[in-house]
Amino acid sequence: MSWEAILLAAVSGAAAAWSVRLVLLAPAVWRGDRALRESILDTVPYRVSRRTYLPFALTVSLFSIALFLAFGGGALGLDWTVPVGTLALLLSAVAFVLQILVAQFNRPRLLVPPSERGRPGRFGQTRRRRKRRASGRPATDHEVEVHDVRPPPDKPDSYTPYFVAICSDAECDWMSDPVGYERDPNPEAAVRRQAAEHSDRIAEGTRRPVG
Ligand SMILES: [Zn+2]
Repeated sequence: MSWEAILLAAVSGAAAAWSVRLVLLAPAVWRGDRALRESILDTVPYRVSRRTYLPFALTVSLFSIALFLAFGGGALGLDWTVPVGTLALLLSAVAFVLQILVAQFNRPRLLVPPSERGRPGRFGQTRRRRKRRASGRPATDHEVEVHDVRPPPDKPDSYTPYFVAICSDAECDWMSDPVGYERDPNPEAAVRRQAAEHSDRIAEGTRRPVG
């Protein structure tokens, strides 16, 4: 047995174990617990929301299990792992196609948590934005919050206060430019003007996340 084979088996085994954890968290994500944040997805340069979590977790875990069976089985000299690994690889390809369908069209519904089934997929979201803009309205009806960010009271000089508007939609990254008093005499109005182009649902009050 070569050391490369052992190394490949160990690495693919670790990846398979990590991805099985993603699947084990799926029921909690489905119910809407905070599990999505705990699934380490915040560190993955890849956009996964509650809506697309299940097919995503299946794709990743089946793929890494397939690799583990191929490399690990080879290292141990087992002959049954290759056909089972090939099957897992085929299933991961199917799961990947389903993941794309869920992301773009929110179908099949069975793979989407019930509370997310009424949402449009990305395809529908883009079309909706285009229609809204064409009729002169803001691009979305996402809930946008205005943050009044000030340094903590014990460190008042750590940075200059500013306002920023942040979209709270789970699949939207929009936020305004941060605006401080040095840039605009009324920074709150400035970020609210930016927010008004993104959405027509802007919270009236402001939030103070820090100080
Ligand atoms: Zn948004």
